[in-house]
Amino acid sequence: MTDLNTKVYYDDDADRSQIDDKTVAILGYGSQGHAHAQNLAESGVDVVVGLREGSSSRSAAESDGLRVATPVEAAAEGDIVSVLVPDTVQPAVFEQIRDSLDEGDTLQFAHGFNIHYNQIQPPEDVDVTMVAPKSPGHLVRRNYENDEGTPGLIAVYQDVTGDAKEEALAYSHAIGCTRAGVIETTFQEEVETDLFGEQVVLCGGVTSLVKQGYETLVDAGYSPEMAYFECLNELKLIVDLMYEGGLEEMWNSVSDTAEYGGLTRGDRVVDEHARENMEEILEEVQNGTFAREWIAENQAGRPSYTQLKDAEENHHIEEVGRPLRDLFAWSDDGDEDEETAEA
Ligand code: NAD
Ligand code: MG
Ligand code: MG
Ligand code: MG
Ligand code: MG
Repeated sequence: MTDLNTKVYYDDDADRSQIDDKTVAILGYGSQGHAHAQNLAESGVDVVVGLREGSSSRSAAESDGLRVATPVEAAAEGDIVSVLVPDTVQPAVFEQIRDSLDEGDTLQFAHGFNIHYNQIQPPEDVDVTMVAPKSPGHLVRRNYENDEGTPGLIAVYQDVTGDAKEEALAYSHAIGCTRAGVIETTFQEEVETDLFGEQVVLCGGVTSLVKQGYETLVDAGYSPEMAYFECLNELKLIVDLMYEGGLEEMWNSVSDTAEYGGLTRGDRVVDEHARENMEEILEEVQNGTFAREWIAENQAGRPSYTQLKDAEENHHIEEVGRPLRDLFAWSDDGDEDEETAEA
């Protein structure tokens, strides 16, 4: 096995005394918030959930047995204040709670956007850390309940107490991340790789590839249903194989014809031109162009976002896919529990 140049932290590397006597304020009770709050509480850590009066999440947190206060009250009580409201509302929430932070408290995030792009300027006398599970919150919660872990990242932006990293590791332990493994990164690296990955490969790149492939077949006269299966539906099988065993397992599992065709044609589709575009998009992430654009888009009430979202929802592939998915058995049961392909 090749040596990794990154250290991976596990349960034994965490010192739970760094968190066990502290109160953690969880601001927001969405995807990450509900998972962090419940996992911490079940690990024996004192948790208070900070939600606006009238927030629809209040009843959810209360019926999960958690203590609920306003964001300001929770932040005042918390030794660690974990900011788990949507990234776009974090700056406004921070303005409300800034004065409730005490010297030596920790302001914690699960994504570095607002710190890295200076949308939040933390007080100088608090620790600023990140604990970012590499997974949606419902899986963070479910894995914990199943005595399993969720891989995660930690990062320290500001360390006034000298214990910022140890505390982040202890928090990772209490939400179940060190069961699976945690690596250390920086706010800058987490933000830039996260934005690049979702724009170029995971969300943007893949959907464009799917749509272009689908349109090419349909425009050439093939049936939309066939195009849907070939260009969208089968993607899951391929991704599952890559997830389990990298590119190698995928190539080994498809036919030799598929392998030869893919190896000779793939780079013609995603060619040097695509690579240049990727580099340009990375630069927009690095120099803040994308962040400024997204912040302005939000300030303007999301006009382009709404339009693009609408167009995507009405794309032909979606109109074909909706009824088609209803006809087949895979859409009957949930998603994540499905068997994935084995080698
Ligand atoms: P979410 O959209 O699921 O959570 C929203 C919650 O925040 C709501 O339930 C509500 O309780 C609260 N909220 C919404 N608007 C509010 C407002 N105006 N004022 C106060 N509270 C408000 O958020 P999320 O996806 O859990 O993201 C939280 C953080 O976690 C973000 O920094 C995100 O980047 C990060 N993160 C998310 C994931 C993920 O898979 N969802 C993964 C890793 C990191
Ligand atoms: Mg406090
Ligand atoms: Mg990511
Ligand atoms: Mg992201
Ligand atoms: Mg085929």
